[in-house]
Amino acid sequence: MKKIEHIGIAVHNLKAANQLFEKLLNTKPYKEETVDGEKVRTSFFMLGDVKIELLEATAPDSPIAKHLDKRGPGIHHIAFHVDDINHEIERLEQEGFRVLNKTPKDGADNKRIAFLHPSDTGKVLVELCEEKSAKP
Ligand code: ZN
Repeated sequence: MKKIEHIGIAVHNLKAANQLFEKLLNTKPYKEETVDGEKVRTSFFMLGDVKIELLEATAPDSPIAKHLDKRGPGIHHIAFHVDDINHEIERLEQEGFRVLNKTPKDGADNKRIAFLHPSDTGKVLVELCEEKSAKP
């Protein structure tokens, strides 16, 4: 794992959260994107080379809706940049971590992503993400 790529924050209302984080960070989101597969709408702020990802549910059965029901808004996951996600999944499984989706899926911001089981990572939801353009 090379660095923290982004920190994901679950929000009830993306518009209101964008305004709050614009004020807090003194910068505007550089993109908004809906990820249909994950049933989320996201916005991204760039801070140096780390991003903040705000996540709003787009359906009641979205993972973000479930998170909000259980725990309310707040930090949802930490995403680590990896060069080769398949290799990293294999390595982590050998170390005993459960990977929630062994086949990487499409994430926001041109990424291939996989999540680890939070029970194996101290209850921190960990996302691996690989830049899609890295592998044509
Ligand atoms: Zn993420």
